[in-house]
Amino acid sequence: MDISYILNELGEERENYFNAIAPPIIQTSNFKFNTVDDFREALADEYQGNLYSRGFNPTIDILRKKLAALDGAEDALVFGSGIAAVTVPVLALLSTGDEVVCVENPYSWTIKLFNDFLPKFGIKTTFVDGSNTSAIEAAITSQTKLIYLESPNTFSFDVQDLEAIATIAKAKGIITMIDNSYCSPLYQQPIAYGIDLVAQSATKYLAGHSDVMAGVVTGKKELMKRIFEKEYMNIGASLAPQNAWLLLRSLRTLPIRLEKITANANKVIAFLEQHPKVETVLHPFRKNSKQLDLAKKQMKACGGLFSITLKNPSLEKIETFCNSLKHILMAVSWGGYESLIIPACAGISKADFDLNNPRHVLIRIYVGLEEPEYLIRDLEEALSME
Ligand SMILES: *Cc1c(COP(=O)(O)O)cnc(C)c1O
Repeated sequence: MDISYILNELGEERENYFNAIAPPIIQTSNFKFNTVDDFREALADEYQGNLYSRGFNPTIDILRKKLAALDGAEDALVFGSGIAAVTVPVLALLSTGDEVVCVENPYSWTIKLFNDFLPKFGIKTTFVDGSNTSAIEAAITSQTKLIYLESPNTFSFDVQDLEAIATIAKAKGIITMIDNSYCSPLYQQPIAYGIDLVAQSATKYLAGHSDVMAGVVTGKKELMKRIFEKEYMNIGASLAPQNAWLLLRSLRTLPIRLEKITANANKVIAFLEQHPKVETVLHPFRKNSKQLDLAKKQMKACGGLFSITLKNPSLEKIETFCNSLKHILMAVSWGGYESLIIPACAGISKADFDLNNPRHVLIRIYVGLEEPEYLIRDLEEALSME
């Protein structure tokens, strides 16, 4: 399917709404039925259509069709946040006594889901170094029902071999799920490698303007229906029609935004790589990475997110550098217009900060849509301060 067709036509039945070019926001909680028979049929199978907007809604449906097509999936469910798109499917697929094999150091709230939330239901998780496919295989037990991946990781950018892991999982009847927020469907298509479920924080590139929280999971219809009929409807983390509409609007410019973000980031990375005060620039396509061939096989490009370390770092140096930036904003998240910075040390108490822990000295940068020269000047000045 052509990407332009997906973004501009798929799911849009313009004749149903006055031939408007932009899709409508169907801001309603419920839908009416003319006969008890119709009503009964709709209540018996809510996955089939519009009944109540906690389930489906016409604006949401346009978005679901586009997001499924972008991933090469049969169907998509959308949520009020990215973490709901992770938590709800995981809860739907697992029962007491089941086990999960999860890649090390995933997104912070994903760690809390597996470490703190799932144990309440007697579900155990083993965390494994995802760059080592045999370690993932070795962690599988007869109780393993889910292998959870995040490739690339969004702080250290380690990648996992999606095809190899999907093959191992399929042979054992284990479901595989990935958090694909870093790449978006434009830069990585996990379903083509055999991954069952693809989750994303749509708050990031898909929404792209730092103004909407949303999440999506895509996969086979049978799996989506299973998730929808139980935990999706019960937890009720659905997306508001207004926010679905903002996402539809954002999707039109996703390719051009990502293209510019990637070009900007490449310029900023080239500047940082030659800067005497910068020790390393971490991203999946870095030249000396052991995982470069794998990353290039699975991914089209890296986008705007990478981390750096300073030469001979100290907490003071990291803080001075970050505090000195005038245009790059200190904030969580990424994917919008604005370039952002987040030092790992901001999430660690001063007492726990360990200079010898390679993760503690990382400084994550997101390059957005400003002109790269403007960002480079900001970085240059801030680096001269430390
Ligand atoms: C932001 C993020 C999430 C969570 O998404 P929200 O939209 O913030 O709920 C999950 N995974 C990754 C990799 C993220 O960056």
